[in-house]
Amino acid sequence: MAKFVFVTGGVLSSLGKGIFVSSLAKLLKAGGVRANAMKIDPYLNGDAGTLNPFEHGEVFVTRDGFECDLDLGNYERFLNMFAKREQNLMMGTAYSAVLQKERRGEFLGKTMQLIPHVTNEVKHCIREAARVTGAEVLVVEIGGTVGDIESEVVLEAIRQMRFEEPPNSTVFAHLALVPTIWTGEQKTKPMQHSVRALLSRGISPDVIIARTPEKRLNESARDKIALFCNVSRENVFASPQLDDVYALPLLLHEQGLDAAVRKKLGLPKKTPDLKEWRGLTEKAKNAKTEVKIAVVGKYAAMRDTYTSVFEALKHAGVANGVRAPGVLIDSEAIERGEIDLRGFDGIVVPGGFGERGVEGIITAIRFAREKNVPFLGLCYGLQLAVVEYARNVLGWRDAHSTEIALRTKHPVIDLLPEQKKIKDKGGTMRLGAKHVLLKKGTLAHSLYGKTEIFKRFRHRYEVNPKYVARLERAGMVFSGRDPKRAIMKVMELPKAEYFISCQFHPEFDSRLEEPEPLFNGLVAAAKKRARK
Ligand code: GLN
Repeated sequence: MAKFVFVTGGVLSSLGKGIFVSSLAKLLKAGGVRANAMKIDPYLNGDAGTLNPFEHGEVFVTRDGFECDLDLGNYERFLNMFAKREQNLMMGTAYSAVLQKERRGEFLGKTMQLIPHVTNEVKHCIREAARVTGAEVLVVEIGGTVGDIESEVVLEAIRQMRFEEPPNSTVFAHLALVPTIWTGEQKTKPMQHSVRALLSRGISPDVIIARTPEKRLNESARDKIALFCNVSRENVFASPQLDDVYALPLLLHEQGLDAAVRKKLGLPKKTPDLKEWRGLTEKAKNAKTEVKIAVVGKYAAMRDTYTSVFEALKHAGVANGVRAPGVLIDSEAIERGEIDLRGFDGIVVPGGFGERGVEGIITAIRFAREKNVPFLGLCYGLQLAVVEYARNVLGWRDAHSTEIALRTKHPVIDLLPEQKKIKDKGGTMRLGAKHVLLKKGTLAHSLYGKTEIFKRFRHRYEVNPKYVARLERAGMVFSGRDPKRAIMKVMELPKAEYFISCQFHPEFDSRLEEPEPLFNGLVAAAKKRARK
């Protein structure tokens, strides 16, 4: 039987609840408990695939092909595991499951209601996530802020679970903002109100986490929270502003969070083994040299769109003993001639869609190729690198992807054949992890050290098989392919110092403990260049 920790948020969103959930699950896991995490998003969407990256950030993809919230990426990175689709419930899916059951006549005669029909579905999905992950403790993140109309049903479902599950099997953790105002004081009133809102829904928090924009929570603020929010002082924790999110588990452990949660769940006392993690965070802190890597994309106003890319760079930096934070560059600013790429030691072009900013990206790729700047292209990055090569090396000026130019004479990137009939946009791309065969003796082969890898995809377009031979004759090497079909999955330019691109998304696989080889190679090459 699994136990559950439910994490709610108060006052406002974007407080780093996902990082907190990841950190708590990490502490439990490091203490020998099979812990995992789940996110419930109250939106009416069925998945994150159709959500605008400007509003929601990155679309993460599970190995089993679910387009999910970016917090699943945090869970994977902190817990060093591969998440399953059941670990992200978007409420649209719960509602539609209930409505479909009604149409099938499964509730004949019954009036369909939010309570109990939708709440039962939510509870079923939570227990299902615990079952498929084999979790002893599932930390469940409730998206949104307490008081949002759309999350009421979810709060009601978790309220019911406390009474349905055996004693010592559920913990309610509430994380809310404790702002500092102009007088310099940390104010707890917003926290008090949000706990009151939670209480009015029948949920009394067992532990409270104060998110402060400062480095610490003042003792007087802690006392006030304990006094007004129904918890004892030792169950009030701080989640302060950090330079490095990977330091949060260590900080929460020092405050005794995992011990408090273990106690409430009736788990024996145990100190988590954080030796490796602590070592890596210290290595990250102590790195002095910085390599400058440009991440060129069109969603420049929203760094979260490329969360996994920035994290992968960070991991590779730690492995190479440098800091590689990555600088987000607006591809449209390149088009306007506002950016000088000469100051960078490496260039990454991440995934993307559509026409806006594409010419700026192609300019950046051309710069990397001609100036021999280490380059890594991811998905759209591979496709546009092929377009750039076709245009500027093969001389096909109009070469393009049919995603943008349907009528080009040189459609070097074209729709995958099976995509041609598809009309619906949600969940219909080529999704999830697939096998990739690597050619011996290539850069890809030497980076991965094996001939077969298993990588995650999310795309509709591919290198047009009709052009592969001509591109190869012009010096491009397709070093990764689909085992069965003519799908090109890795491309490299052997003449360059480091120029490699892949159709898959390696950024999702990078871990602090184990950086992804393509990123590791990029940062190593960038470090070499920076030294010169
Ligand atoms: N737009 C491209 C495609 O659909 C690339 C997608 C991506 O970068 N994830 O194939």
